[in-house]
Amino acid sequence: MPSGPTLDVRPRDAGGRRWYGFGVIPEVDGRTNLVGATLAEIEAIVAELGEPRFRGRQIYAGLYARRARGWESFTDLARALREKLARRLDITYPETMTAFQSSDGTRRTLFKVSGGHRIESVYIPEEKRDTFCISTQVGCAVECLFCVTGKLPTRRNLSAGEIVGQVLALQADRPTDMKRLNIVLMGMGEPLLNYDNVMKALRLMTDPLGMSISPRRITLSTSGIVPGLERLAREDLVPNLAISLNATTDATRDILIPINRKWNIASLLEACRRFPLEPRRRITFEYVLIEGMNDTPEDALRLVRLLKGLKKKVNLIPLNADPWVPLKSPGEDRVLAFQRILIEHHLTAYIRRPRGNDVSAACGMLAGREYPQGDTSHPPPAKRERP
Ligand code: SAH
Ligand code: SF4
Repeated sequence: MPSGPTLDVRPRDAGGRRWYGFGVIPEVDGRTNLVGATLAEIEAIVAELGEPRFRGRQIYAGLYARRARGWESFTDLARALREKLARRLDITYPETMTAFQSSDGTRRTLFKVSGGHRIESVYIPEEKRDTFCISTQVGCAVECLFCVTGKLPTRRNLSAGEIVGQVLALQADRPTDMKRLNIVLMGMGEPLLNYDNVMKALRLMTDPLGMSISPRRITLSTSGIVPGLERLAREDLVPNLAISLNATTDATRDILIPINRKWNIASLLEACRRFPLEPRRRITFEYVLIEGMNDTPEDALRLVRLLKGLKKKVNLIPLNADPWVPLKSPGEDRVLAFQRILIEHHLTAYIRRPRGNDVSAACGMLAGREYPQGDTSHPPPAKRERP
């Protein structure tokens, strides 16, 4: 079997800060950043400061449920204690560098995280819900042919604090009713290659004592890291699952998504078949339609056959064109014809319309870019340039 790409994307200490294993609580100005800490971790810190344990719960709720950003907002704590806490502990969200507002209401936010790396999140308002699309890594080692993030050098995993920090920062910028809020892990990076931090972030997001977001409103999208899927299947906390299938033959998928050479379509779909689903839950199969690659009626029929027996729906995503990607989107007629074949075969199939295209916020366009969309004078940075 040909060897796959290098998948070593372990966290790196790029910013010269102290890191605490996978928990990763970076220090800011010598103070520990609490964002990303679990209740147990906060209780341990509080105990170290000589305070009763229950204070940990108050701080945890203030941090994640009330989303307090400064110690002065913790009015349930005595002033002297607040001052003591402020000397040792900090509350810092990822730093917003700039935000780009699309004409359709979508907003792309560019954040700076420690080490000076740029990551992006997208706020997508819709009629019945608001979606936060968040990143899990700086760059992505999977290097899909059609994705701009995959053209970046892979720098490091994001910590749990940097993942939930995006949600907290977007919420502060665009307050949204929690009942309308959906979270999709579809920004920069492959979530299942940053498994521990993503799982820790999911636990923080869904904790009823804290951020309290229902797991049913969270979707993890993966390019198909089969061992990660098998591990996720055994967790007590399972978000909705989206699989970026994007091809119906291994020959094509090998070209589009190089990790297919390691975990092919059959092994990926086998992992999907074994994935435990609650009643009425379905796996979403994402299918980026690319002209001349995977958009024929034969592909549509093969897709129907491949997905037989699975509880599923299909999201067709016409390729979002970008100067960094040498591929084209099929015309509207072809996209509709593809969808029609799926529907005729009783498959639920939606077309995902690009949101925030004019500010490079649509699927696969996130790269931490600050210059105008469509500007071809900026080539992607050298992929092999690593810290
Ligand atoms: N790494 C994960 C999640 C981030 S990518 C994954 O691959 O699933 C989120 C979605 O954007 C994936 O379904 C991917 O197939 C899609 N995507 C990537 N580049 C795209 C592009 N240029 N046009 C349309 N969709 C794209
Ligand atoms: Fe990575 Fe997903 Fe982009 Fe592929 S599509 S390069 S897995 S972010």
